[in-house]
Formats: sequence, C-alpha cells, structure tokens
Amino acid sequence: MGKNDVTNTVGENDNENENLNLFTSTQIVIHDALKKLGFTENAFEILKEPVRMLRVRIPVRMDDGSVKVFTGYRAQHNDSVGPTIGGIRFHPKVTEDDVKALAMWMSLKCGIADLPFGGGKGGILCNPRTLSFGELERLSRGYVRAISQIVGPTKDIPAPDMYTNSQIMAWMMDEYSRLRSFDSPGFITGKPIGLGGSEGREEAGALGAAICIEEAAKIRGLSIKGARVIIQGFGNAGSFIAKFMHQSGAIVVGISDVYGALYDPDGLNIDYLLQRRDSFGTVTSLFDGTISNEELLEKECDILIPAATSNQITAKNAHSIRAKIIVEAANGPTTIEATKVLSERGILLVPDVLAGAGGVTVSYFEWVQNKQGYYWDEKEVRDKLRKKIVYAFQQIYEISNNSNVNLRVAAYMVGVRKMVEASEFRGWI
Ligand code: NAD
Repeated sequence: MGKNDVTNTVGENDNENENLNLFTSTQIVIHDALKKLGFTENAFEILKEPVRMLRVRIPVRMDDGSVKVFTGYRAQHNDSVGPTIGGIRFHPKVTEDDVKALAMWMSLKCGIADLPFGGGKGGILCNPRTLSFGELERLSRGYVRAISQIVGPTKDIPAPDMYTNSQIMAWMMDEYSRLRSFDSPGFITGKPIGLGGSEGREEAGALGAAICIEEAAKIRGLSIKGARVIIQGFGNAGSFIAKFMHQSGAIVVGISDVYGALYDPDGLNIDYLLQRRDSFGTVTSLFDGTISNEELLEKECDILIPAATSNQITAKNAHSIRAKIIVEAANGPTTIEATKVLSERGILLVPDVLAGAGGVTVSYFEWVQNKQGYYWDEKEVRDKLRKKIVYAFQQIYEISNNSNVNLRVAAYMVGVRKMVEASEFRGWI
C-alpha cells in the first residue's frame, strides 16, 4: 500500500479516524473506491497525492508603507484527463494538507460531473477581513505572478473559493493578461459577467446542492413542498440554498452561523433573514433566544444541510441526528466514522463531492463560453447544470445499490474512474 499505509488506519482503531485530517480521510475513501473498482495499488500510488504542489512567498506593500510577506500554495492533483481546475481560498488557517485534500476533491468532482479536467486548488494564508481593498488587490496580483508558470487556460484554471470573489478573479485575470500580453479570459473562472463571467456562476454551488436535495427527496418519497429543512451556515452556500428551498415551498425550520442558531418548528422568515445577513454570512447575533450549532444539528427535520465547515457530524453526535436525509453542501462536514453510523441508521447521506459539484461544473461552462466567445443565458446554464447533476446523482445511486456501498464510496468510485483510465492510457500506471 506504499508508505502512507492508509489501509492500516481503517478499522484498526475506529476512534482514531475521528482525528484524521481531511487529507488522510480523503486518501482512505479513494483507496476504498479503487479497491471496489478492482484497480491496482499503482492506481492509489498515483492518486494519493497531488502531482504538483507549489509553495510561494508573496511580498505585498501594505497601506502603511511596510512590506508583509504572505505564504501561498497551488496544488494540482491529477492532469491525466485534462488541465486542472479549482478555487483559490484566502484564509488565516489554510494549511498545505487542506489545499492538497481540496485539490483531490476537485478531481473527484470533475470525474463525477464528467468534466474534461483534473482537480487543482490554491490558498493564501491571510485574514481578508483585516486587509484593505488596495492590499487585497496587490496580494491577488502578487499571487498570480508567483504561480504564473504553472497556471493558464490550458494548464490549470483557478476560480473563487472561501473569501475570494469575482472582483479578486478580475484582478487576477488582468494580472495574467499583462504577464502573457494577450487577453486570456479563460485563465480564471468566477469573473464578473462584464469580463467574460458566466450567468449563474455565483449560485452554481448552491443550485447543484439543491438539485441533489430534490433527487434525494424523490428517493425517500418526500415532497420538497412542506419538507422541514435545517441549514447549518448562512454564507454564500447556505443562504442561496435557504432561498432555493424557501422558493420551492420547503419550511426552513433552522439556520445557523458561527455565533449560534435560530430554530422555529413553524418555519423561519427566510426573506427577512436573507435581507439582514451580512456579507460574511452572519445574522443570528441580531436575535435573542438562539441555540447552539450542536443543538441545531440534533433537532428533528426531514432534510439537514451542513453548509458551513468540516467535521460537524462526528461519532459523538451521529447517533443523535434526527433527519431523514443529509446533503453535504460544505466540504467534509461528516467524518468517516459518522458516515458509517448514519448509513447503518438508514439516513440517506449525499456526499460533498456530489452535492458540491455545481460550482466547478459552471466554471467549466464559463471556460467553454470564453473559448468559443459565445455566451449563454441563465436558463441555458441552469438547464445544462441540472442535466449533469441529475445524471451524476442517478449513476452514483445505482452504483451504491449495485455494489452495496454508501453514496460516498459510490461517488468516489465514479470520481476516480476516468482519471485512472486516462492515467493507464498514458502509461502512468
Ligand atoms: P461563507 O464563508 O460564505 O459562509 C460560511 C458560513 O458558515 C457563515 O454563515 C459562517 O458564520 C458559518 N460558519 C463558519 N464556521 C462555523 C461553525 N464552526 N459553525 C457554524 N457555522 C459556521 O462560506 P461558503 O462559501 O458558504 O462555504 C461554506 C462551505 O461550503 C465550505 O465548506 C465551502 O467549501 C463549501 N462550498 C459550498 C459551495 C456550495 O454552494 N455547495 C460553494 C462553495 C463552497
């Protein structure tokens, strides 16, 4: 199994799995999926780490005249199918292992949505809340200069992620165009519409998750109209999902942010909450009588949507979850151990690599539109997204039934297959 020996960790001491970082847990599930598909250990050797990982130091002139040096990363997991693609996050706690795991997830999402890409991811250690507009611009441009040798529209295509937005994508695209002295909108996705961005890109991640919610509800014979929904996190993902669920007639009974949770069994006033949330996805501090995030996760509901952060459903609370369906809109909200408990309890859990594949799918659409110089309207983008996500969902559900594995392992099986086959054709395995 190679020196990482992830298989030895599986099952040897199940409680230890709760403490694994996202990178190691991702390796474990990839290994499981490869085994189920009958691929050799060589396949795991090639997929267990990104093929390329660049660490850069970025000097930035601060507003007070001093120079501060920031650390950044860009990981490219696997480029056997095509160029790599994936977001850039600005975060004070982003680690090299996080970026590696996120690049691997992007590969899986590309496989699941059948896109002609492998996964990439970038990150800069910084606290964007403390940076001025000018400092953010200089940092964004500095990052592009630092990674410019390994990225490009036919090599590795960045996109927005946590705390990065269309303005940051615009600065990055402009910097890349200056370096290459030609206009290259396809270098990056998630741009403003006026600079070659795609209709529907901003809410694509949430729409992909909402489509998965509808598919999961059909399987459980549940109508979305009147279904009781709890959403953890009210940021970009959570708030759009709340809006879509509310528009579809679901009753959103609980939402939360990092400071606490709101719960009302009769339904919350979603329009009001959407109006009052700030740009960081905070709203609960405006209310008295909030409950904790831990309490919210254990409230009874039909559909629970973790849309905040990783490691929220663990071996500690998995037995107390009272939802029929869980759809992971956040990356890595459920640990391996909790996934096992939930499947044993018959709770349908739609994994992050499937529920979160909407964002990269519309990034692909943006890249295609940039290449052809012909732009689609929102309906066309949404219809094409729905077709891809519904197909991926049904394929994964069928594999899960036929191979008797949970939806997470089935999703990984679909996610790795094309990469392994492409690597075999290239003679890498
Ligand atoms: P965001 O920063 O816009 O919002 C995060 C929300 O979660 C905020 O409301 C914040 O207060 C809350 N939060 C943070 N830590 C929390 C904690 N410990 N407990 C409870 N709430 C907490 O981020 P986002 O773009 O909405 O992304 C959220 C998650 O979804 C991430 O895992 C991200 O990678 C993933 N994501 C999902 C999509 C999608 O739409 N499916 C798209 C991009 C990212």
